[in-house]
Amino acid sequence: MNAPARRDIVQDLEQFRSDVRQWLEENCPPSQRQPITPEEQYYGGRHARFPSEDAKLWFERMRDKGWICPEWPAEYGGGGLGPQEAKIIKEEMKALNARTALYSIGIWMLGPALLEFGNEKQKQQHIRAIINGEARWAQGYSEPGSGSDLASLQCRAEDKGDHFLVNGSKIWTTAADKCDWIFCLVRTDPKAKKQEGISFLLIDMDDPGVSTTPIELISGESEFCQTFFDNVKVPKDNLVGELNKGWSVAKALLVHERKLMSELGSDSPREVVPPSTAARQYLPFANGKVADAQLRSELVDYDMEMHAIGLTHFRTFEEKIAGVRSAAPLVMKYVGTEAEKTRSELLLAIMGSRGLGWEGEGFTQPELDTLRLWAMSKAMTIAGGTSEIQLNVIAKNVLQLPQS
Ligand SMILES: Cc1cc2nc3c(=O)[nH]c(=O)nc-3n(C[C@H](O)[C@H](O)[C@H](O)COP(=O)(O)OP(=O)(O)OC[C@H]3O[C@@H](n4cnc5c(N)ncnc54)[C@H](O)[C@@H]3O)c2cc1C
Repeated sequence: MNAPARRDIVQDLEQFRSDVRQWLEENCPPSQRQPITPEEQYYGGRHARFPSEDAKLWFERMRDKGWICPEWPAEYGGGGLGPQEAKIIKEEMKALNARTALYSIGIWMLGPALLEFGNEKQKQQHIRAIINGEARWAQGYSEPGSGSDLASLQCRAEDKGDHFLVNGSKIWTTAADKCDWIFCLVRTDPKAKKQEGISFLLIDMDDPGVSTTPIELISGESEFCQTFFDNVKVPKDNLVGELNKGWSVAKALLVHERKLMSELGSDSPREVVPPSTAARQYLPFANGKVADAQLRSELVDYDMEMHAIGLTHFRTFEEKIAGVRSAAPLVMKYVGTEAEKTRSELLLAIMGSRGLGWEGEGFTQPELDTLRLWAMSKAMTIAGGTSEIQLNVIAKNVLQLPQS
């Protein structure tokens, strides 16, 4: 059979776009077309409550349509669609200001890795539960002594015949106290070279011996925990991939995490104010231009950077469709999170004291958000691998510079 002509594909996609637009228009409740606050984000899980009836309705409609995870296989509850259709859904949701119906580390990180490395039983159990919002996941990678040098991790899983016995702790585990499950990197062979003695385990947070201690942060946004494992019995069925081959699963998952981070600025739960818009509201103008020459120049630099980032995302997407391997995802975590930091710094410079409010009356919501987003932007250049580590990886793997 001949492959469909390009014109037919484009026409099909245009028809799809129009169907998506119509469906969203008919099914997205008006209240779900407003910028979302952190309190209104729905993360699912055994103990989760919807923030409103409309949020519940919107989630259920999206789930039943298969659009919570449009690209995941339909047999596990996904939409079974291709990347172009998924991109159209995302674009049309953005055009309508439609909220993300389910926020989930399971969707952003674990799911894609499970689809690649998990066995059929694991996919049947966990993928559908992620899509249905029935299981909330935490990430158990970092340890008090192992962050950037992740492969030095010490949390240990001993083979006890029918189960693993896990002892140790993980730190910076986001929202682990609210999660049902945690995916963990554990040391299963202490004698092997560090990357070769690691396995990837799925651990139920309700298992005896698992506990969490919250860590409070200055940004007011992230709720971290330290998660402890004290003689936790984990069934052998919860091993993802092969024993001692967890580093491959870990790296594949990190690619998804870094892709997410590189796009965060474009998908922020808060209303993201472009600096040029803020400039018109807060700065004096002279002859139709921002009067302050230094700020004017920084604004132009930022706009050009964002344009270049937008084009690179577009190119990366086209490369993905064409099956071309590209270094861009590796570079974009660094570029995207650094640009977000620049945006936050610029907003503070533009808004002056109006950007320094933390809570209370007398400030608009975007003004109150500015300082929190500024604090959060710093965290984003650390999470998922720091900017320095990203530069090291780019130098080694992309530019192939000599190692010192
Ligand atoms: C918002 C946020 C959410 C997070 N969520 C999770 C989570 O859910 N689960 C989880 O497991 N972890 C999570 N983390 C932890 C994160 O992965 C680590 O913070 C990160 O990997 C850095 O490790 P570290 O904090 O131990 O810093 P360190 O590794 O101690 O680094 C300290 C400093 O030294 C620099 N440095 C270290 N080594 C090098 C080198 N070789 N070359 C140059 N510079 C170097 C680093 O860039 C950094 O500036 C989260 C972090 C943040 C900020």
